Amino acid sequence: MKDKISIVGAGLVGSLLAVILKKKGFQVQIFEKRSDPRKSNVDAGRSINLALSHRGIRPLKLAGVFESIEPYLIPMNGRMMHDESGNLTFQPYGKEGQFINSVSRAQLNQLLVESAEEAGVEVLFDHKCIDVDFDENIIEFENGSKVASDLIIGTDGAFSAIRKKLQFTDRFNFSQHYIEHGYKELCIEPNNNDFGLEPNYLHIWPRGNFMLIALPNNDKTFTCTLFFPFEGSPSFESLSSKTDVDSFFEKYFKDAKELMPDIAEQFFSNPTSSLITTKCEPWHKNRSILLGDAAHAIVPFYGQGMNSGFEDVRIFIEMSEELNWNWDEILPKYSAERKKDADAISELALHNFIEMRDHVGDPTFLKRKKLEAQIQEKYPKEWIPLYSMVTFSDLPYSEALRLGKIQKRVMDEFLSTDDQNIDFQKIIDRFNTLKKGG
Ligand code: FAD
Repeated sequence: MKDKISIVGAGLVGSLLAVILKKKGFQVQIFEKRSDPRKSNVDAGRSINLALSHRGIRPLKLAGVFESIEPYLIPMNGRMMHDESGNLTFQPYGKEGQFINSVSRAQLNQLLVESAEEAGVEVLFDHKCIDVDFDENIIEFENGSKVASDLIIGTDGAFSAIRKKLQFTDRFNFSQHYIEHGYKELCIEPNNNDFGLEPNYLHIWPRGNFMLIALPNNDKTFTCTLFFPFEGSPSFESLSSKTDVDSFFEKYFKDAKELMPDIAEQFFSNPTSSLITTKCEPWHKNRSILLGDAAHAIVPFYGQGMNSGFEDVRIFIEMSEELNWNWDEILPKYSAERKKDADAISELALHNFIEMRDHVGDPTFLKRKKLEAQIQEKYPKEWIPLYSMVTFSDLPYSEALRLGKIQKRVMDEFLSTDDQNIDFQKIIDRFNTLKKGG
């Protein structure tokens, strides 16, 4: 009989990891603090949706579960920008045929938990972890039970109980940062039984210091998310009456408001949530390790939180196979090697907020994008835009970040000259020199 593995947190990452470990022959149990959503009254169709892309899809395929998830995905081919007058501009995400997918978080989570159960994983709901003994490998739960295992994996999200416990151990580093913006979800109902907006796009209303986005759902609704400062003017704090909300949406998001006649009611009945980045290291202690948001929570602006967590799973499994499932070697190696990529996507995600809310409608940005598309067309193998490296490739995030900075430098240099004739060979030569460290 192979080792007994306890996973804390049956969220997206924990349940995917459980499926794979069980299929590899381990004894796997998952402990989840929430109650079983199948037995409680959760309206799965109304919960928020996420953008699933290549890095997330590959591990789902590895687990053999992608086929059952694929029918629920809605492809989004690019960004559809809405300006204040309601004019639309389309920006593809990548080359023709490249797209990201909108998926319901609740539906995806449920499919993963069910796949884990079908594979033979024991999923124990109403098990809130409150303590871990890292020397004896024992987890303690709020209901009084204690469980001993050969390996403990903490996939218990951004406010991980296991990570909190690690904070009391020697030489464990931890930092957290809340950005000044929060978010609120709003719903666009179907219009005459059809989508209120074109469904195969991620819609963005960039407005400088704040923005609204909308992703489609299978029930023909759109979930909109308003990313907005907590304080200042305008802000969550400054919109204190229904009239304030109505005039704010009328001014900045007129076309979206027309699709949400109950906007003021929604605004005051839906919660306002904060956005956090957490970093910590090392991710392991003895025979315990953190994966997903528990190890590295990031802001959602690159749509990579879940995707990077799923990629954690693939890399962890591949490394474990290479090292013959020797946990004492795997945990320190995984923790040391994956950290730089988690830091890189954390930085990229913070930066993408500025790009989405400030730049996507800006003429200089569009000129830059056009130039970049031309370079890519001429040198498709050598010049891959940063968004594509992050979203449509397996390149380590740290390498994507490094190459993206070089691309920016090369384009800055070119755009700062008045040269009207674009010497593409010169651009690519400069890029290649800098890439090699020149
Ligand atoms: P979680 O999904 O948070 O799961 C953790 C699980 O652990 C939960 O089930 C929780 O109940 C359980 N748990 C917590 N504490 C305990 C405990 N003490 N004992 C037992 N169980 C416990 N990512 C993308 O890739 N694409 C997107 O488009 C995207 N959009 C986002 C939009 C928003 C507004 C936000 C906030 C995030 C978004 N993300 C997105 C990020 C994504 O939601 C997370 O990265 C992802 O959910 C992380 O998965 P996880 O399994 O690590 O953690």
